Amino acid sequence: MEARAPYGALTAVKIPDKDSIMAYKVALYPGDGVGPEVIAEARRVLEALPASFEFTLFDWNSSLYASTGRCAPRDYLDRLMPFDAILLGALGDASKAPDHIAVEPLLSMRKGFDQYVNIRPTFLYDGVDCPLKNIAPGQIDMVVIRENTEGEYTDLGGRHYVGTPHEAAMQVNYFTRMGTERIIRYAFETARKRERRHLTSITKSNALKYSMVFWDSVLADVAKDYPDVTCAPMLVDAAAMNFVRSPGMFDVVVCSNLFGDILTDIAAIIVGGMGFAGSANINPTRRYPSMFEPVHGSAPDIAGTGKANPIAAILSAAMMCEFLGEVELAGRVRNAVRANLAGGRVRTPDRGGHDSTSAVGNDIIKKLQG
Ligand code: ATP
Repeated sequence: MEARAPYGALTAVKIPDKDSIMAYKVALYPGDGVGPEVIAEARRVLEALPASFEFTLFDWNSSLYASTGRCAPRDYLDRLMPFDAILLGALGDASKAPDHIAVEPLLSMRKGFDQYVNIRPTFLYDGVDCPLKNIAPGQIDMVVIRENTEGEYTDLGGRHYVGTPHEAAMQVNYFTRMGTERIIRYAFETARKRERRHLTSITKSNALKYSMVFWDSVLADVAKDYPDVTCAPMLVDAAAMNFVRSPGMFDVVVCSNLFGDILTDIAAIIVGGMGFAGSANINPTRRYPSMFEPVHGSAPDIAGTGKANPIAAILSAAMMCEFLGEVELAGRVRNAVRANLAGGRVRTPDRGGHDSTSAVGNDIIKKLQG
């Protein structure tokens, strides 16, 4: 199967002048659980490429909580700011820190660096077991574009009368015209670069009559600029069903923060599991660093056992290469991953194999060089 970017919009951003770059400055932020294990493999793959990366390791994670009450230093955004890109593993270890504190740097990076586009490609590779019936490799080929900075995940709300019988909690959904328009426009641009040129916009306009009806109206406005892209709305409950029932109908999908969070876990599972899903958190203006991370979490159940599948992290590193303008190298990494998957010989346990995280990394590097 031909290697090609499973998404199209990354290359639409301003590409730095390669001649002026000595080395891409990459912050490695492995985090918790399996994060360090999978990021180590992604790093080795990057080091095997004919490009120059200057890595700086930040070993911030939940272990810091006991001594500092935080999982990263106070100035972590300032310290990450000078980098071209951040490669993140996973954050969260409930045995060491409360979850909402552990993942705070992740949410702050997305908002503080205005990484308003979250891209999650979903592709069924040859050699991967699909849990759905009668689906051939390549028949699932979609990109979910998730709004990453507002919507349901804003820090607006509060709790009142805590601990009393009339305790109340309020969590505000916040959709701005600028935020909604720019994510929808990015999704249309992505669809425009793909063969099928079809966009599905996920809403819940029948129940959320302010935010989602607003979203629909912005979609209608933006759609006028893209007559070459077909576009259809779909309610989120129908989308959850259709991701399982007929995933082949989707090409590009655009959705809010919460809907995207949930739907992309389904998307990951239908193409083989959490070990295959890479993602990018993009600031398309390049004013701030963008961040690349596997969709999976810290997987505490397998952390430290050498069983984690590094492919999601490696595919995230490929997305990073593409974002940095190294489109051909990104394709090479994806081809090496394809070869590993299709070969089916070197596999972590989630793929029914007995090989370790680093054995899969070695095989992908061998395929890269072969
Ligand atoms: P989070 O809330 O941080 O996203 P989560 O609760 O969704 O995390 P994960 O840590 O992603 O959970 O793990 C979900 C399941 O997927 C676990 O059974 C875990 O072992 C498995 N899993 C996650 N990542 C991998 C991986 N890289 N390789 C193999 N299995 C994985």
